[in-house]
Amino acid sequence: MIVGRYAPSPTGPLHYGNLRTALICWLQVRLAGGKFILRIDDLDQQRNKAGSVESITSDLNWLGIDWDVGPNVCSSNNKYQQSHRTTLYYDAFKTLEEKGLVYPCSCSRKDIALAASAPHADDYLGIYPGTCRPQTDTNKPTLTQAKSVNCAWRFTVKHKTIKFTDQVCGEYTQQLGSEVGDFVVKRKDGVIAYQLATVVDDGLMEVTDVVRGADLIDSAPRQIALFEALGFSPPRFWHVPLMTDNQGNKMSKREDPESISRWRSQGKTAEQLVGHLARSAGLIETNDAISCKNLLAALNTEGFRQQLRTQT
Ligand code: GLU
Repeated sequence: MIVGRYAPSPTGPLHYGNLRTALICWLQVRLAGGKFILRIDDLDQQRNKAGSVESITSDLNWLGIDWDVGPNVCSSNNKYQQSHRTTLYYDAFKTLEEKGLVYPCSCSRKDIALAASAPHADDYLGIYPGTCRPQTDTNKPTLTQAKSVNCAWRFTVKHKTIKFTDQVCGEYTQQLGSEVGDFVVKRKDGVIAYQLATVVDDGLMEVTDVVRGADLIDSAPRQIALFEALGFSPPRFWHVPLMTDNQGNKMSKREDPESISRWRSQGKTAEQLVGHLARSAGLIETNDAISCKNLLAALNTEGFRQQLRTQT
């Protein structure tokens, strides 16, 4: 059975681009007669904004998107809300620790930039040079002996190329060792990082197809490495193009947080928006108003994938 999920972070109301990704995600699952999960990625408490879950669910419902697991459907929120699933993440972290695949790291962002000789330490977001990685070939003490200190924990990546075929973007390869380096799975403040939480959820929820914005494609190889380390088979990935505004800029929740409520308050219909979003994703030829249900009936799985592929 096909299982898909849309996994918004409740950091504010959805914008048109988020809604288009959610629509594509829903269509992919419903075309296959699968199970659709609305997961709430609310682990990062500092970024959560009060009222976002309500506004997200209200906008999705208004548009015509329904879910089988998620807010207002499940009685138990530990089925879909990350902040209620932390024990599962710590269990997975412990598995990685027992397998010797993670190590503590005390480097600040500045240390990492300096070690990499980056000219602007504060802006450096690049590859971790492995400063705290345990030296297995010497007896040199490492931070592993001092785990109680306030450290982030990194996953030790192997020097191999990760390759997968994205259902929309085609073949994607990344050399994790040289392009990313050992990455954080548990933050200094003890919060499990996005990469690990996502993999634990997608693995335990038996997600077969991850449909999300193309800005996350470079996370997929890290996630594949984690899926394998935890004994899950990785899902299929569909990284869909991000919607841009009239000037061709990527949309952001910060820039126009009220866009959908404005559409709604102007009395424009959900069907008009579905038509507009589906047309902009190349799924239909005109942007005439159409309901989610009728859009679903007008598409077929293979044509849907082809239409998405031609947009990249
Ligand atoms: N929660 C992430 C976001 O809102 C998406 C995570 C994912 O789909 O893997 O951008």
